Amino acid sequence: MYVILRKERFNDFISRLSEMQRLFAPVLKGYNNFAFEEVTSGKEIATKYIPTILPPKKFFIPQHETLLEFNLAQGMDVEAIVEFEPVTLFGVHTCDLAGIQCLNMVFSERPKDYNYLTRRSKIILVGLECNEYCDEYASCNLVNANFPKGGYDLFFTDLGDHFIIHVNTRTGDEIIKETGSFEKADTSHINELEKLRKKKRKVFGNEVPIEGKHIPELFDKSFNADVWRDLEERCLACGNCTNVCPTCYCFDIRDEIDLNLKGGTRYRLWYSCQLESFAKIAGDINFRKGRSARQRHRYYRKFRYPVDKFLRFFCTGCGRCTRTCMAGISLKETLGELIKESEGKHGKGSYKRF
Ligand code: SF4
Ligand code: SF4
Repeated sequence: MYVILRKERFNDFISRLSEMQRLFAPVLKGYNNFAFEEVTSGKEIATKYIPTILPPKKFFIPQHETLLEFNLAQGMDVEAIVEFEPVTLFGVHTCDLAGIQCLNMVFSERPKDYNYLTRRSKIILVGLECNEYCDEYASCNLVNANFPKGGYDLFFTDLGDHFIIHVNTRTGDEIIKETGSFEKADTSHINELEKLRKKKRKVFGNEVPIEGKHIPELFDKSFNADVWRDLEERCLACGNCTNVCPTCYCFDIRDEIDLNLKGGTRYRLWYSCQLESFAKIAGDINFRKGRSARQRHRYYRKFRYPVDKFLRFFCTGCGRCTRTCMAGISLKETLGELIKESEGKHGKGSYKRF
């Protein structure tokens, strides 16, 4: 079902939405940086924004999360903790919706992660379409994440003086009814949406000279590529690229014992495969000691391994890793270099372009 929201009613709608439960949306932080922050009025929201510094994953996987508390003073008293709060996220782009879909798949695998799944079930998602590229770092077309593919309750597309909204779930329908700001869409609105999407297909194009379906093959041939050695020289192993990535979910689990040694907390926190300690095991053995091996691992975890396991890329093309990298390592350039090197070895035109 589709409905319409006139722009003059946008502020009323956002205010009503924020009264229902805490509402977070993209807000300008200065210097073309944006962050999902709590809002109560439409005026605070940046409806045109480049991907936020941190993706919405911060609501799904907190940077620090208590898993259990234990007290050994009277036997073994252990309490499992599930931290969650019902919130609404407004303005989530299609690349970030794709990122959340990846996280849903990972945390739904057995053994299921009830902390994640409980929190996920309490979050309402309102998507917002990008009618054009956010900037030159995005590669969402390559990974097919530039058009809406579910994973939201409501989805907004800007059509000039009004938004057209796809109502995707019962929760979305309830919001439409409760806020009372919407009108039913008619055929002319649907035609406008189709026209916009047709135009968009022409704007979004060949970001990297390879067709998405050939990427696994490229990676099959690139395990020993020189490109990884070049990244070894440049990467600072800071872990920024994985922190800002909407599909990176690795965490470390730690115990903190009270000073009286009778109780404590077990918590998890974000961790990064780019840090030297990540693959270190007993006996001081590190099976990804070099930065080239760790960078290679990051790329294979985006473009090769999840294709076998989940039948999709775990890169959404959001461009955050490139925007944030102090060493200027660019995802699009790395893919381009891999293609060049592979074609040098296996023949030009090995990977069909668009
Ligand atoms: S952000 Fe750049 S320098 Fe830091 S770990 Fe990632 S690729 Fe290396
Ligand atoms: S690898 Fe980079 S472009 Fe791809 S989803 Fe992660 S941050 Fe975004």
